[in-house]
Amino acid sequence: MGLLVRRFVVGPLDTNAYLLADPETRHAVVIDPGAEGVRIARAAADEGWRIRHIWITHAHFDHIAGAGELAESLPTWPLVAMHPDDLWLWRMEGGAPLFGFHIDPGPEPTVYLHHGQQLRLGRTIVEGRHAPGHSPGHVMFYLPYEGLLFAGDVVFYESVGRTDIPGGDPDALRQSIQAHVLTLPDTVRILPGHGPETTVGHERRFNPFIASWPEGDG
Ligand SMILES: [Zn+2]
Ligand SMILES: [Zn+2]
Repeated sequence: MGLLVRRFVVGPLDTNAYLLADPETRHAVVIDPGAEGVRIARAAADEGWRIRHIWITHAHFDHIAGAGELAESLPTWPLVAMHPDDLWLWRMEGGAPLFGFHIDPGPEPTVYLHHGQQLRLGRTIVEGRHAPGHSPGHVMFYLPYEGLLFAGDVVFYESVGRTDIPGGDPDALRQSIQAHVLTLPDTVRILPGHGPETTVGHERRFNPFIASWPEGDG
């Protein structure tokens, strides 16, 4: 049996939080605990999975606001991994105070991700892909043998991440998608930070943002 993946739609912005588990070692990871940390911790405990790490694609509040609650619901404190270029955003509570509220982002990230970094979950190899544009320290998690890309807010079903926010950069986002999404095989499944899953092939053909870019540029 291969890697197990559960999706939880959480919080006011319907963020996709993902629980990944290796069925043999029972080690688990949560990508983007945006809210409802207790619910995610309970789902893992019910399966006998041990969440040891939290991996953050980027530090917007809707991807980190459940991390404090999640960490406190676990028997052992998890390690948090994130790209250091989003630490400023993490320290600003992911921008939540700009919208008039506060969050508990949980344990400070101590595992700094970089482009090309190899992570492991049991026997599964996971590659970190630095994809700035929606935020400076945005990372996607690519599982080459499973053909899965956890894309955060870089690319969605027939859409892309917004860049009209502090730290956003439309040129960087275009280059990130061209270099680190469109270079993947068409069959790779994209599991985004919001909305339904899609594939690289579908977005290559039907994503109106990608279609508007001049080919081979960037
Ligand atoms: Zn975001
Ligand atoms: Zn988001």
